[in-house]
Amino acid sequence: MFNPLRFLWRVNNRFKKWDEDTIKEYQRKQVDKLLKFAVKKSQFYSTFYTDYDLTDFCNLPFINKQLFMDNFTQLNTVGLTREECINHCLEKEQSRDFSEYYKGYLVGMSTGTSGNRGIEFVSKLETIMMQLLVFFRFPFPKTRKIHLAFILRVFSPGFGHDGRKIRITYVNPLDTMETIVEKLNTLNPNLLSGPPSVLQVLARAKKEGLLKVSPLLIISYGEVLSSNVKKIVEKDFNCSVVEVYKSSESFIALPCKDGKLHINEDTTFIEVLDKNNQPVKPGKPGFAVVTDFIKRKTPIIRYKLNDLITIDPEHCSCGSKFRVIKQVHGRADDIILGRKINSDELQFILPDYIRRSIISSSEYIEEYNVIQTSPENLTIKLQLSSNVETLVKKDIEGSIQQNLVSIFTKHESEVPELEFLYVSLKQDFDKKLRRIQRNFEKDFLK
Ligand SMILES: [Zn+2]
Repeated sequence: MFNPLRFLWRVNNRFKKWDEDTIKEYQRKQVDKLLKFAVKKSQFYSTFYTDYDLTDFCNLPFINKQLFMDNFTQLNTVGLTREECINHCLEKEQSRDFSEYYKGYLVGMSTGTSGNRGIEFVSKLETIMMQLLVFFRFPFPKTRKIHLAFILRVFSPGFGHDGRKIRITYVNPLDTMETIVEKLNTLNPNLLSGPPSVLQVLARAKKEGLLKVSPLLIISYGEVLSSNVKKIVEKDFNCSVVEVYKSSESFIALPCKDGKLHINEDTTFIEVLDKNNQPVKPGKPGFAVVTDFIKRKTPIIRYKLNDLITIDPEHCSCGSKFRVIKQVHGRADDIILGRKINSDELQFILPDYIRRSIISSSEYIEEYNVIQTSPENLTIKLQLSSNVETLVKKDIEGSIQQNLVSIFTKHESEVPELEFLYVSLKQDFDKKLRRIQRNFEKDFLK
């Protein structure tokens, strides 16, 4: 029987008191339990693991979004079909009423191209556990009542709330910017959460005096939070920005009181692997592979995310031994590839280097987009502040070129041809903002 008070005590105790050995031992036991459950209750896993030794976890095959979606009907342990879940979500999408349970479950769907939809699916108990985890581990500012405005791009089940101490209101990012600003001014929340691309635009509205809210804390999620955007948002709102890392598959990490992003080691098991599926050392970037201990309705076991992350080799100053994610670099197809000098090999270059090369080039750059179609070509789209003369454009191009030459050379890679385009880059708040994109070698690092 689930006891919320005991769960809360555990949530705090584990985070503060557990040492590395205790964490590892706990995870090993949870993994064992989960595997036994999955092969018994999920037709998919029982077939998928037929030829594998379940005691050898690190050699079990990976799943990914494609496998998960293709086998959704056989994978879930409550007998729902993929079609009925998708239909239910499409209906909800029309009505924008996400509060409704379907056969006792909250079903959500991430947007994306039709072949790329993901279903998120949780029971009431799983929802409560996740809410408790967030409410009691998240470093909420000390205030009488929390009122969080959640600018939500995709529906994530189970986070609406209107309680005595905490109120969460959703703001639809599909509205126009004026409507969003107006809504926020009326709501006057003391906490604000949204993807960094939206937060950045709101920071501009705040600076111009259109947005009147003064949150105590801002929470960024859903996209990579670059250090530059973090700085801008913190400055214009005059408060701290912390990051939350959640995918449809698992609630991966929450910030601590010192602002560091800790993996929820007691509810999720994160492996960080290189392109040959070998563990990488903390401090080096690698793929996040997730195994979730809470979700029993759709077991998530060795699910390869498309995200590249780096674990901090240092422990956090807050005292917790839960691992800290030093940086979420972004999706694998946001990683730029260089052709190694005198070799045919490809070298990956983290998007943060490219981002910094662009923004540090000129204060006139308002928005940008970098698209790589081959190791030899890089297209850079720039939106500059109005009335920038041609001469200045040449300076900006020269400066970007210089920065990129230095980055590629440091990575022992050939410098690609650069093409500059001057365009108006309208933001579509319904889509994840991807400033860096690679359109070739899609399987690289998979
Ligand atoms: Zn910490």
